[in-house]
Amino acid sequence: MANHLYDALFGQHEGQDTVFLYLPDGSSMTHGDFCALAARYGAALAQAELKPGDRVAMQMEKSPHMLALIAGAIRQGAVFLPLNTAYTPAEIAYFVGDSGAKLLVAGSKSAAALAPVAEAAGARLATLDADGTGSFADSAGGLTPVAVEPRAPGDLAAFLYTSGTTGRSKGAMLSHDNLLSNARVLADYWRFTRKDVLLHALPIFHTHGLFVATNVALLAGCPMIFLPKFDAEEVIRLLPQATAMMGVPTFYTRLLDDPRLTRDLVGNIRLFVSGSAPLLADTHRQWEAHTGQRILERYGMTETNMNTSNPYAGERRAGTVGLPLPGVEVKVCDPNGGEVPPGGIGTIEVRGPNVFQGYWKMPEKTAEELRPDGFFITGDLGTVDADGYVTIVGRAKDLVISGGFNVYPKEVEMALDALPGVLESAVIGVPHPDFGEAVVAVLVPEAGALLDAKSVQAALAASLAKFKQPKHIDIRHDLPRNTMGKVQKNLLRDDLCGLFAG
Ligand code: AMP
Repeated sequence: MANHLYDALFGQHEGQDTVFLYLPDGSSMTHGDFCALAARYGAALAQAELKPGDRVAMQMEKSPHMLALIAGAIRQGAVFLPLNTAYTPAEIAYFVGDSGAKLLVAGSKSAAALAPVAEAAGARLATLDADGTGSFADSAGGLTPVAVEPRAPGDLAAFLYTSGTTGRSKGAMLSHDNLLSNARVLADYWRFTRKDVLLHALPIFHTHGLFVATNVALLAGCPMIFLPKFDAEEVIRLLPQATAMMGVPTFYTRLLDDPRLTRDLVGNIRLFVSGSAPLLADTHRQWEAHTGQRILERYGMTETNMNTSNPYAGERRAGTVGLPLPGVEVKVCDPNGGEVPPGGIGTIEVRGPNVFQGYWKMPEKTAEELRPDGFFITGDLGTVDADGYVTIVGRAKDLVISGGFNVYPKEVEMALDALPGVLESAVIGVPHPDFGEAVVAVLVPEAGALLDAKSVQAALAASLAKFKQPKHIDIRHDLPRNTMGKVQKNLLRDDLCGLFAG
């Protein structure tokens, strides 16, 4: 039997001397060398007794080595968990424990802090750094490749943890075919070929950089300019060598601030894609005015991969996320799953081969969000116009997206409420010119307690990743509530929306 995902993404490239990765120091790595590295890492996973279906967690800097470890995991049939580099050891402890990972691979700098985490969860810890050194690389050193493990389309390939509104993160289980079917649709829809060069500055612990960008490039057989992170200076330098870039809206707003962004600079680019957070219609228009190119906006999420996209050849409509992708059904529903009348606003539900298999060890949560007929309740509020274009109008779940990262207010509120002197809190997102949205907290002190914003911020640094920490803290006597006792966050948002303006 074949390995569904490995064969399609990597198997076809084994032994090929075509370039897969252009690296910022001017060096490059061929498809063949990458596959050989992935095979060695796969052998090291087998030696560490990772069996098909076992989980391997990783918290590493973005590098070809992290990507090769992922490819090695797919090769061995293991389920991989790529974790945000900003997560604290306390957060990693939850992911490793919940997933039952047998192995945690981390950068050597965090080894000391993560050793007790791995031990408590009964997982082994190995190190692998961006330069390819570390105990995991040592163990792979002298190994010869082992056979590719057979995997069927429905077998699990990855867990991507999404933050939970209840404070508990959920492991979205993605199968080989969830990932492969979506990558095939996108590569075709966006017309990727081996002649493309994709500028890749997204993180690879998230669906956008990992599955959308990387898998599309692998299927098409085109190289990627693989940058460790988004740096406007580097992106400006390398844009002339690329034919496509995928980014979050912040990439586009940052580049628009640079006077060097001109038509000439991007003359070689045929496609700019945006997603993961709303792209303001204004940014869309400004980008066209500066570059002569219309950004193609698409919409997706961890649980579903990509659902909709503006067309490649047809009209790319600013402020919309385009049309359902081939094979994906999209409907706008009331809370009971009944479709709202055309043009109405409701919750977006999606069905297709892209939709995940459920949340790991959370059957109740899965049943709440995944209907028996296969439709997934996204929690995004939207509407579809007469031409079929989908517009997202809000998030039913109150998610804050800051700089392209999801922040669930509940999780931050729980950390705040646990601090001495805090009676209650409400966390909201307010417009921010650079991050799209900024996390803002409103705190109510316990009677007689003296709270100051600076010490609250310092206290959160140990428990929350930087991107979740509030950028502003407001201290008030009480929170606005409706007659049912619910905090009216909309009033707080209205009140504080100008905080970062101009
Ligand atoms: P994630 O699971 O991190 O990919 O976040 C998914 C959420 O990001 C979706 O449920 C949407 O709320 C939001 N999102 C993704 N793409 C877009 C987009 N193009 N416009 C508006 N919101 C988006």
